[in-house]
Amino acid sequence: MNVHDSERLSGMLEEAGYVRADKDSEPDVVVFNTCAVRENADNRLYGNLGHLRPVKESHPGMQIAVGGCLAQKDRSEITRRAPWVDVVFGTHNLGSLPTLLERARHNSEAEVEILESLDVFPSTLPARRESAYSGWVSVSVGCNNTCTFCIVPSLRGKEKDRRPGDVLNEVQALVDEGVLEVTLLGQNVNAYGSEFGDRLAFGKLLRSCGEIDGLERVRFTSPHPRDFTDDVIEAMAETPNVCHQLHMPLQSGSDRVLKAMRRSYRSERFLNILRKVRTAMPDAAITTDIIVGFPGETEEDFEQTLEVVREARFSSAFTFQYSKRPGTPAAELPGQLPKEVVQERYDRLVALQNEMSWELNKELVGREVELLVAEGEGRKDTETRRLTGRARDGRLVHFSPEGPIDREIRPGDIVHTSITRAAPHHLVADGEISAHRRTRAGDHWEEGRRPKTSGVSLGLPSFGKPAAEPAAEQGCAC
Ligand code: SF4
Repeated sequence: MNVHDSERLSGMLEEAGYVRADKDSEPDVVVFNTCAVRENADNRLYGNLGHLRPVKESHPGMQIAVGGCLAQKDRSEITRRAPWVDVVFGTHNLGSLPTLLERARHNSEAEVEILESLDVFPSTLPARRESAYSGWVSVSVGCNNTCTFCIVPSLRGKEKDRRPGDVLNEVQALVDEGVLEVTLLGQNVNAYGSEFGDRLAFGKLLRSCGEIDGLERVRFTSPHPRDFTDDVIEAMAETPNVCHQLHMPLQSGSDRVLKAMRRSYRSERFLNILRKVRTAMPDAAITTDIIVGFPGETEEDFEQTLEVVREARFSSAFTFQYSKRPGTPAAELPGQLPKEVVQERYDRLVALQNEMSWELNKELVGREVELLVAEGEGRKDTETRRLTGRARDGRLVHFSPEGPIDREIRPGDIVHTSITRAAPHHLVADGEISAHRRTRAGDHWEEGRRPKTSGVSLGLPSFGKPAAEPAAEQGCAC
C-alpha cells in the first residue's frame, strides 16, 4: 500500500512540474513516505532526518517532507523533534503535498496538515508507476476490523471502497499502457463492497478483470479469512487470467490467540478455506503471514500454530516476531513474552516453514512454467548468467536465457521453461527455454517508458468490461 502511495506522490509532484533527481545528484526535495507497521519505524525516520540535516544546511532551498502512517501518528511531534522538516502530511491527504511544499516555501515555515478522514481517494491522484509490466490498483483503503496488534485502523481509518467502474477503468488504463499484470490492493481486499452493500462485489470484480483483453495476470492482496467466501474461490478458478495464488494471513494457529488478537475466524475455518481453494485449483500456491510470541502465547498455543502450518502446506510465509506497537490494544496486554522465548519459537517456525516450502518446491521439478520476466529480483543473476521471472503462482524462478530467443529477453517479456532444481525460496530452470514472447511491456521497459495514470475518476458503479477508450478519455499516456 505504501509503495503504491509513493507512486501517487511521484505522479503528483511530476504533474506539479517537479522532475526526478538524478541518482547521484543532491535533490531539492526529499519526501519520506513512512510506515508505522514496521518495527523501529520512528528510530529509522529520525535517524534519516538527522543525517539529512547537514545536507539541508549546505543546500539552500532544499525541502524535506514527511508523510504516511508515522506522520499521521506523530503529527507535530515530527517538527518538534526535527525542526528542519518543512512539511508533514498524513495518510488522508496525500494530494496536499505539492500545495504544502509551495506554502512552506512561500511562508518560510513548516506546514503540518493531518486530516482525520480521507480527503480524496488516493486513486483519484495521478501516479508515476515504477514498473512497465506490473501495476497496483487499490480497490479500497482503510479497514473495519480491529485486530489488537494492528495500528492500521487508527491511522488509515474505516474502509472506503472505490466504485467498481473506477477500479476497472484504472486497470484498463494500465493495460492500455502495456501492463500485463495487475495486483488489486486493499487492507482487507475481499471485504470490498461492504460500503456499498454488495458482499459478492470482490468476486464480481475478479470476473470483470477477466474480460479485459491484454490483461494476462490478476493478483490480489490481502484477503481476510472472515470475509473469504466461496464465490471468490469460484471466480478465481473460473477466470483464466486470475492467478492461482492466494496470500491469506493466518497470524496464529491457536484459537485462543486468534481470539486475543480479535481475529474473528478460527483455525478450522482457515484450513477449510484452503481445502476448498485446493479442490478448485490443485495448483494454487498459498502464502501467509504469521506472528510469533503474541502476548500470552503459551508453548501449547505455539505448537498449534506449527500444526496448522504442517497441515496448510504454505508455499511460503512471512513470519514476524511480535513486538509492541504503541497505540495498539495488544501493547497493553499482560503476558508480554521475553525476547529469548519469542526468538526460540520463531526459529522453530522458520525451520519448519523452510522445510515445507522446499518440499513443495521439489514437487515442481520437471514442470513447465510460464514466467513474466522481472527486473531486479535476482540479485545473483549477473554472477550466475541467469535471468529471473515470476511464475503464474507467484514463485520466483531463476532461468537460463538460452534457446529460441527473439532478439533479447527483456523484463516484461514472457518465457516458458522447465524447472530443473528447487530451493526453499526459489526455483531454478537451467535447461533451454521452450518459448519467448516479446511484449509491449518489454518494449516500454527497453525504451525507459513507465505507465502514468492521470487518476481522474471515471466510470459508472457497475460491473462488466469498461467502456471503450477509457484510457484516452483519462488522458493516460506517458
Ligand atoms: S484486518 Fe489487517 S489491516 Fe485490518 S486491523 Fe486486522 S491486521 Fe490490521
